[in-house]
Amino acid sequence: MSSLTFLGAARTVTGSKHLLEVDGQRILFDCGLFQGLKELRLRNWAPLSVPPDTIDAVVLTHAHIDHCGWLPRLISQGFRGRVHCTGGTADLCQLVLPDAAHIQEEDAKFANKRGFSKHAPALPLYTEEDAAEALSRLKPSPFNTKISVTGGIEVEFINAGHLLGSSYVLATRKDRSGGRILFGGDLGRYARPILPDPSPGVDADVLLIESTYGDRIHPQEDDGATLARIVTETFARRGKVIIPAFAIGRTEELLYWLFKLEDEGRLPKLPIYVDSPMAIKGIAHYSARADELDKEILEMRRKLPRFTAANSAAESKALVANDAPAVIIASSGMATGGRVVHHLFAGLPDPRNTVLFVGFQAAGTRGRNLVEGAQLVKMFGQQVPVHARIEKIDGMSSHADAGEIIRWLRTFPRAPQTTYLVHGEIIAQEALKLRITKELGWNVEIPSHGQKVDLPL
Ligand SMILES: [Zn+2]
Repeated sequence: MSSLTFLGAARTVTGSKHLLEVDGQRILFDCGLFQGLKELRLRNWAPLSVPPDTIDAVVLTHAHIDHCGWLPRLISQGFRGRVHCTGGTADLCQLVLPDAAHIQEEDAKFANKRGFSKHAPALPLYTEEDAAEALSRLKPSPFNTKISVTGGIEVEFINAGHLLGSSYVLATRKDRSGGRILFGGDLGRYARPILPDPSPGVDADVLLIESTYGDRIHPQEDDGATLARIVTETFARRGKVIIPAFAIGRTEELLYWLFKLEDEGRLPKLPIYVDSPMAIKGIAHYSARADELDKEILEMRRKLPRFTAANSAAESKALVANDAPAVIIASSGMATGGRVVHHLFAGLPDPRNTVLFVGFQAAGTRGRNLVEGAQLVKMFGQQVPVHARIEKIDGMSSHADAGEIIRWLRTFPRAPQTTYLVHGEIIAQEALKLRITKELGWNVEIPSHGQKVDLPL
């Protein structure tokens, strides 16, 4: 008997956790943190539906926190097994898990200082020690190679083109009896810089696929025209372009575009700074695994990297204080924390500057307020006037849109018996289900949180 239980990312976009049970063996595919609304975040504190010490192994599709960020908690709750992933995922986990633990510890400290926690003292969801233990369990494997994860089950990682090391995972029985289940992870995009196209689909009886943009089509690529315009206009005013960006993935894409525009003579040679220790380490991991990236980047890499890294706090402070024209990439992406806040604090009152947002800005964040035209924003206890220009570029998402998902599904050699939509809000999922049913005639289900289904595995 085999079953699958949806323990996260069911009718929502975070907390990915799918429990596969085959002949009494338990494997957890992804171990993500719930993020966003409070009712979701509270799930991070709830016990898992099965005791963690009864799970034999964990398999990670990629290193985004909503896919791997609950791992230290699983370990602190008693999980004793190994964590299988690709080499790229293991590299990036070394950056994101200790950082996530640090944030958890800081939040708990803050709650204790302010006394707003119901618990005395407030405890972190997990500690940096738990994160270190999680890293010691990682077992990296190459792409396209069958590896044994339990006595009876093997898995294979296939490049998904969504983040360095990102994969879909095919799970099969070692004795080849039974069906094949493909855990889709997050799906990358076609014809994008840095990352390769998603690998074609494979023969599978059951498929799990993300549906984040199941009801949307990304804007058409403009070959860097908007970025070139924004940077050119700001430099003409002798201002700075401050770009809040997610440390890993988005920073690489921005650098690619800036170098490409410069190389094609569409921008002059500019001082470019990356002010984020995590982003700088992330760039090193991308460079070290260039053979897993888009072919075009190999060509670009010969000219790369020409940017100045601000590693230390002193370098960052000096950069904030210097008002010479420059492009500054700093995290966090939604301007909720990190070094970019210092750049904004100093740069927002100056009309020569531009703040450029390149990612999704969630409701309630400082980034969202700025994008929506706030005249004043609160930082470090002060109201800061917004005189800088605020710009945004859509379309740098690393998730496939509805059209790209359909395009990928068409690469499967046959229709799976069942396709489960996960990692999406229900409106996007209903729209995608309708499209897949209509255009491909496939059987599609939208599982609910905690739902358990039988599998032909
Ligand atoms: Zn992802």
